[in-house]
Amino acid sequence: MERQIETRPFVGGRYVEPDEPRTFIDVEPASGRELALVANAGPKTVAHAIAAAREAADGGPWPRMSAETRANVLNRMADGIEKHARELGTLEARDVGKPVSECVNHDVARAARNLRFFAAAAQSWTQEASFGDAKFLGADLHLLNVTARPPLGVGAIIIPWNSPLMLATWNLGPCLAAGNTCVLKPSELAPLTCIALGEIAAEAKLPPGVLNVVPGLADTGSALVTHPDVDAVAFTGGVATGRSVMAGAAESLKRVMLELGGKSPNLVFADADLKRAASGVARSIFRSQGQSCVAGSRLLVESQVADRFLAMLLDEIGRLRIGDPLDDKTDYGPLISAAHRERVRSFVAEAVAAGAEILTGGKAPEHPAEGFYYLPTILDRLTPRSRAVCEEIFGPVLTVERFDEEDEAVALANASRYGLAAYLWTSKIERALRVADRLKTAMVWVNSFFLRDLRTPFGGARQSGLGRQGGRYSLEFWTEPKLVCMTWGEEK
Ligand code: NAD
Repeated sequence: MERQIETRPFVGGRYVEPDEPRTFIDVEPASGRELALVANAGPKTVAHAIAAAREAADGGPWPRMSAETRANVLNRMADGIEKHARELGTLEARDVGKPVSECVNHDVARAARNLRFFAAAAQSWTQEASFGDAKFLGADLHLLNVTARPPLGVGAIIIPWNSPLMLATWNLGPCLAAGNTCVLKPSELAPLTCIALGEIAAEAKLPPGVLNVVPGLADTGSALVTHPDVDAVAFTGGVATGRSVMAGAAESLKRVMLELGGKSPNLVFADADLKRAASGVARSIFRSQGQSCVAGSRLLVESQVADRFLAMLLDEIGRLRIGDPLDDKTDYGPLISAAHRERVRSFVAEAVAAGAEILTGGKAPEHPAEGFYYLPTILDRLTPRSRAVCEEIFGPVLTVERFDEEDEAVALANASRYGLAAYLWTSKIERALRVADRLKTAMVWVNSFFLRDLRTPFGGARQSGLGRQGGRYSLEFWTEPKLVCMTWGEEK
């Protein structure tokens, strides 16, 4: 892997020249300069990738291998990721702008773990059988119902730019472990580590056509979604794109999983361990510069401790080391693109024009001067219906709202069209249980930020998504329950 950055589609087990001469520029967020000129896979390349996946699904060995044999291959891919961890992490840091320590120690490590986890999960996933009987019109029949779980066929996996390698493997793991083949489309803003997965797959001797990677813009994604030979789409991205993916998949009635955006509240009660809460809240919103679907972007804090808590939070922010993502000591890098930084700026400007107060940040830093940096920002004194409170910013902006009563906190938390995650900070177990029960989010973390057991359901309620990932939830999505009913007895 110590060579030129690969920028071509990976189809049928090798890197290929795309059928169309189109390219797009992949920009490095820390410098604002061109990092790579990447092939923009058009309809013909997409069709070739789908045909390769179809052939591998219908005629290749992969779906017919035992789960154990498939697991061996996925574990070899995990070995390959670990072997190249530093290189992949550095590439991810350059492409996404996230600190290299986070890329290597979290995202790349998690990528290998995703594959190993689903390799094991698919092997231990037992399928169902039940005895029954049918007595009608004098018949006395006995049944053995066997529910098999064959793979669906060809999956399309479309992912965003914020954690490419982690999200690609989180989807690829169950898709491939269950015996499907797939076409992966990374985001045009950060496609490089997903393209590199092709080489890792080939080294691990994944049969040709099982994994295909098509870099490209939105059109590449919609060509995949609408193609009749794709059986299921696992999409991770924004709400608006999710809607068009669902509409595009409707024509051929594909199975769709949507992992979309969030506006997750951090509820801090006066009885909480405030120091721990301040550290958790800071991490929940400023890790990855706020560019995380589960970012805790709304702070709801009990009035009596609000000023003290905000002072602690400012102290946490003051300790963040902002700088070059390639420096191991950096905690906080640039945003993904100039356009995204402008979007973040516009949210802040609109809130300030409506009377919001900037407690910290609200601008780009003086150093580093290059690249798309934007300081960690806290906005206070907002109107509750302000766009900064209601819409996902997907950047380093925390909004503050105060409450006096538990009911008020729950009402504020639930006043959102999103329903991904919530974070509860309290030392009262009864309050934690009561509030967790009333929150309309799919996930609630109590006195912790985003700890993951990969068996548990990950996903969004309301407009944050459709379906769940993790453990058996992912394996159910990627398989088709199939009944085989066997009978014996008298039929009259
Ligand atoms: P996006 O919706 O703009 O793009 C996501 C992917 O979809 C990209 O690969 C893009 O090229 C592709 N795409 C764009 N238009 C398409 C179309 N019409 N048909 C098919 N594919 C199309 O999102 P983004 O800006 O890359 O990512 C940020 C969003 O992702 C945020 O909303 C964030 O919350 C969300 N996200 C969600 C999760 C989750 O697990 N819930 C995880 C990470 C990010």
